[in-house]
Amino acid sequence: MKYEGALTARAWREVDLGAVSHNAAWLQGRMGPGCRLMAVVKADAYGHGAVPVAISLEEQGVRSFAVACLAEGAALRRQGVDGLILVLGYTPPEEAGELARWRLTQCVADEFHGRALSAGGMPLEVHLALDTGMHRLGIPAEDHEAIARTWALPNLKVTGTFSHLCVSDSPRPEDRAFTQVQLDRFYGAVARMAASGLDPGQVHIQASYGILNLLPQRCAWARAGIALYGVYSRGEDRPASDPLRPALSLRARVAALRTLPAGEGAGYGLAFRAGGDTKLAVVTIGYADGLPRMLAQAGGEVLIRGARCPMAGRMCMDQLLVDVTGLPQAAPGDVVTLIGRDGGAEIRAEEVAARCDTITNEMLSRLGNRLPIRYHP
Ligand SMILES: *Cc1c(COP(=O)(O)O)cnc(C)c1O
Repeated sequence: MKYEGALTARAWREVDLGAVSHNAAWLQGRMGPGCRLMAVVKADAYGHGAVPVAISLEEQGVRSFAVACLAEGAALRRQGVDGLILVLGYTPPEEAGELARWRLTQCVADEFHGRALSAGGMPLEVHLALDTGMHRLGIPAEDHEAIARTWALPNLKVTGTFSHLCVSDSPRPEDRAFTQVQLDRFYGAVARMAASGLDPGQVHIQASYGILNLLPQRCAWARAGIALYGVYSRGEDRPASDPLRPALSLRARVAALRTLPAGEGAGYGLAFRAGGDTKLAVVTIGYADGLPRMLAQAGGEVLIRGARCPMAGRMCMDQLLVDVTGLPQAAPGDVVTLIGRDGGAEIRAEEVAARCDTITNEMLSRLGNRLPIRYHP
């Protein structure tokens, strides 16, 4: 990859929209007939930029999107996203007017939330969340009376009914059995609704791991987040022949080089100590850009000129140190890759997340908006 002359930022994200498009098509191909991809673009599309991702998916024929909150939905509408936008999280009932104004479909968190939304007097399109065992949002799936009362609320038009699986990422037999319990509760509740004349609308229950690990479901939508971006929550979930393509790279620059004699310390707390004559590169990214601070002291590495180099000492807010003793060619201005490929080498998001005891979902969604995003078509 050539960078000469193209870049001005100190640190940036690169997003390959072609990879997102490939992943969307692959995920769509794993779904049953009649089931369509709902692209989960909450948290700024897990750090990939919600508006460009949604617009490019819409050009590819994706017709529905999921966000976490009203503001995220309104931002997509303002930029011209036209398809269904489902707000997966709670919206305060006093914001019902804004939901209607931006033509957002609101999730009903429970009967109490539904009553409060309806009491505002504003007609709203909603999807009923059913709690099938996660015990986060949703009307208890077995409580048909509460579902019926919520469905019948005067200002709510139920256009969908959904639930969320909480262990579909796990291969353990007891977790697989629990996923089946959740599916049975969900389809049971939907069947009882239909039998008593309450149209459930379009139903959906799978997220990324539900699509990856379950047989196709008889649903109208499947909601994919992390897999759409081509990464797995954890590296061990990645199959040997991985059909997905990671979309995001994270890069910075070498600001300066330092030569340290053996025994000299560097960085806050002098946490790095030079074992022998050492060359350090000062790199233009830090924890205020969304990188976990612990990465530097948890064995974090970067790529410079296609070579892996270890981070040194403590990460700073805006910078970090890298030991480039083994890379005499390193020079000020060099591109530093924190996530992504450089030459034949690659650092995957799963590797970085694992070092920091987290999942890629958290790590990517925290990448700060101080990092501009360059899009590849
Ligand atoms: C975040 C979220 C998703 C997407 O989850 P992934 O595992 O990233 O695919 C789907 N549904 C709900 C309700 C969510 O909160």
